[in-house]
Amino acid sequence: MIKFNLPLYTEKSQEYLADALEQRHVSGDGKYTKLCHDYFKQKLNCHQALLTNSGTAALEMSAILADLHVGDEVIMPSYTFCSTANAFVLQGAVPVFVDIRADTLNLDEKLIEAAITPKTKAIVPVHYAGVACEMDTINAIAQKHNLLVIEDTAQGYDSYYKGKPLGTLGDMGCYSFHETKNIMSGEGGLFVTNNTSLAERAEIVREKGTNRSKFFRGQVDKYTWVDKGSSYLPSDLVAAYLYSVLEIADKVQQKRLKIWQKYYAAFADLEKQGEIRRPIIPQECSNNAHMFYLLCQDLATRTAFIAYLKEHEIAAPFHYIPLHSAPAGEQFCRTATDMKVTDKVSETLVRLPLYYDLTEKEQDKVIDVCMDFWRNK
Ligand SMILES: *Cc1c(COP(=O)(O)O)cnc(C)c1O
Repeated sequence: MIKFNLPLYTEKSQEYLADALEQRHVSGDGKYTKLCHDYFKQKLNCHQALLTNSGTAALEMSAILADLHVGDEVIMPSYTFCSTANAFVLQGAVPVFVDIRADTLNLDEKLIEAAITPKTKAIVPVHYAGVACEMDTINAIAQKHNLLVIEDTAQGYDSYYKGKPLGTLGDMGCYSFHETKNIMSGEGGLFVTNNTSLAERAEIVREKGTNRSKFFRGQVDKYTWVDKGSSYLPSDLVAAYLYSVLEIADKVQQKRLKIWQKYYAAFADLEKQGEIRRPIIPQECSNNAHMFYLLCQDLATRTAFIAYLKEHEIAAPFHYIPLHSAPAGEQFCRTATDMKVTDKVSETLVRLPLYYDLTEKEQDKVIDVCMDFWRNK
């Protein structure tokens, strides 16, 4: 069976995990967490970068920091993972869904302004497949209406918009290091911001609402409960694993890009024949090879395609059930536009296996089986 994803593992993973144990500091913010923080501050050129337990945790931190009141509204796509919405629902806010663009499958910036009401407090662009949303337009709308921009950049490691790293374009950014993402630690995430006052509060929110980070830096002589918060910091063991992966991050990215480009070239003819559509990456956006997907013509074709791949021992999942049609989405959220593109994409998109350890032989098989399907259809 060719898996859809395989977690990263390097020679250093065990060594760093053993070292982290020997440090006798296995709670949060130890040696490896600091190494990861330095790495990300430099890589993302940002003021604050804090490891979290997950992308979900980073989103929850941003929702707390947004200071929302019950009934406040947050504009986001419906075509995303449930954590994008859940984080705000937990604060009593109402996610308001706007349809996506047919090319990038990202929040359609042209539909945002009409969805703004006096209750709107934030816009949450999700950089789907690591391809940036139209951030200049989104930031301009946010500035005009005095809204926060919180980037769900769970899929956006090593991706850029007009040369700037994703997650640093709005007020706050939320990365995921779940094992299905380009860079991973099993579960894990990162909160980033360039805003100095949000940065200071973020440390507190992440540490159960205490000023413990200041205490450890010697800036206060005892620590206490000063704000809302929860426990969003990972054990240093998780950071040790993540750090081992960061050391091969460039190699991982090169390999993923190679695999992505081979898929892209292989399906050019099928696209010309109108059978499928390949990903579209606008000029101002980079490609981090997070995902390679194909868009089929309709649901029946996709169902048959996925079944054919499975018969030939290839795992190729689809996603998402749009949040506006999920039971919790119907209960907690509101829809501001029609959802034509979202509904169509969720019925026709297929993701192909893409991970660092995928061999050439395995990828060739995936491509051959895909070609056979359309030849025999
Ligand atoms: C993976 C993902 C998340 C959640 O990240 P976790 O680390 O699994 O909590 C949130 N949003 C998007 C778009 C994702 O792809």
